Amino acid sequence: MLFRDRGKPDAAALVGVLLAADPEHADVQQPDRACQNPLPAELVSGASARILARVLAMCMGIPATGHTAPIVPATRYTSPIAETLAPDLLERFLRYVRIDTQSRRDRTSSPSTPGQLELGRLLVAELRGGGIGDAQLDENGYVLATLPGSEGAEDLVIGLIAHVDTSPDAPGHGVEPLVHRRYDGGVIELPHEGVRLDPATMPELRGKDGHDLVTSRGDTLLGADDKAGVAEIMAAVAHLSRNPDLPRPTLRICFTPDEEIGEGATLFDIERFGAMCAYTLDGSDLGELQDESFSAVEAILTVEGIDIHPGLATGKLVNALRLAARIVAALPEGLTPEATADREGFIHPYELQGTARRATIRAILRDFDDDRLEQHISLLRATAEDVVATEPRARLRIDVREQYHNMRRYLDSVPYVAAAAEAAIRAEGIEPLRRPIRGGTDGSRLSEMGLPTPNIFTGGHEYHSVREWASLQEMAAAAATVVRLAEVWTRPEVRAAAMSEAGA
Ligand SMILES: [Zn+2]
Repeated sequence: MLFRDRGKPDAAALVGVLLAADPEHADVQQPDRACQNPLPAELVSGASARILARVLAMCMGIPATGHTAPIVPATRYTSPIAETLAPDLLERFLRYVRIDTQSRRDRTSSPSTPGQLELGRLLVAELRGGGIGDAQLDENGYVLATLPGSEGAEDLVIGLIAHVDTSPDAPGHGVEPLVHRRYDGGVIELPHEGVRLDPATMPELRGKDGHDLVTSRGDTLLGADDKAGVAEIMAAVAHLSRNPDLPRPTLRICFTPDEEIGEGATLFDIERFGAMCAYTLDGSDLGELQDESFSAVEAILTVEGIDIHPGLATGKLVNALRLAARIVAALPEGLTPEATADREGFIHPYELQGTARRATIRAILRDFDDDRLEQHISLLRATAEDVVATEPRARLRIDVREQYHNMRRYLDSVPYVAAAAEAAIRAEGIEPLRRPIRGGTDGSRLSEMGLPTPNIFTGGHEYHSVREWASLQEMAAAAATVVRLAEVWTRPEVRAAAMSEAGA
């Protein structure tokens, strides 16, 4: 009962009068009568949210403008499995996001920060508590665990992967998650720093009326990237472990450190993992399935100038910082992340540091096509060389480091891997959205290293920002998709495709 839930039983009773008088056309023509003759609230059980809202508005003296008061029915879960998983999933998610696992660039050890080990230890304890006795945290910060397959399906090993670290691009310490039950479709004002989640500027929020949303307080990121994925795998595996009758192959679970700084796959031991393929839960929108990512490089440009006391600098000073700024300014404006979409690549200078003596530009370059990525690298190189050539005494060094390749070329040869995920998403009653990732995941490099690993949605949004949010209903759908995926991998035709490949 809507009003009961909101602690307004009198209002519910008032609405009852209208419905009893004219259930077909109950509306606000008789607000006076409604307000004076309360009837039992049970009568309103068939009332629409629109009618309830308008009557309540009338009784409270608000003109009936046709706008409804913010009364929103709860959104239904995608399946009974999703609904069953949701409470445990939310509890885990709120617990995990409170641990500061932000990774740090230019790491000197794995993981780059100790908070990732803290979460790793918690996950191991929870896995063991749930009956997964082999769960362990290795010396590099990787959590590994095995859920044995059901009878006859043990020989097939499928991996589930999520990353424990959060992005260094937004504050990650002291995350205090807020749960907004039954989102009303309007602007969400977060308590800190005037941060607003506005559907006018955030299209992903539209249509989420009735969802239970989780946000930060506005002063930190939330960490749904990728603790939504971690919590979804944990909740799904706990559910499978509690229900041994549910069909599943042997599931190998790995939680990786330092994905956000591009190192998640670096010390991933594929042989020890032992799976024939894996899935990362590190996507976003409901139903997303990604088997294509950017190809990616990082470029570090170092400009060396000549520094001298500015009072004595006439004709002698060579200002590296000014030269670096001119390089950044000379890059084409149409080739930025903010000006490109879909399958277009970009050059993104994201850090400029320096003094008159030496300045460093760090940039990432991305494209789905390797040849076009090479063109972006050449363009960056030529631009920097042209600018620095104007000052013969300055020196320029360009270091280009490969980060990952488009995973498509590796996944195309094992089409049944993504097809199994599609079948699982459909089994959860969701239409799969197959789109390229404008980024990379652990799966980009793992696929290249020989472990085909497409990416599945998590229900988290606005990653790497203080506006990050997640929908509980979508997270539960992702966890339920994992349970479905386990079943899909026990289907004879899916097993046969995988086994013939393994034997080939
Ligand atoms: Zn992520």
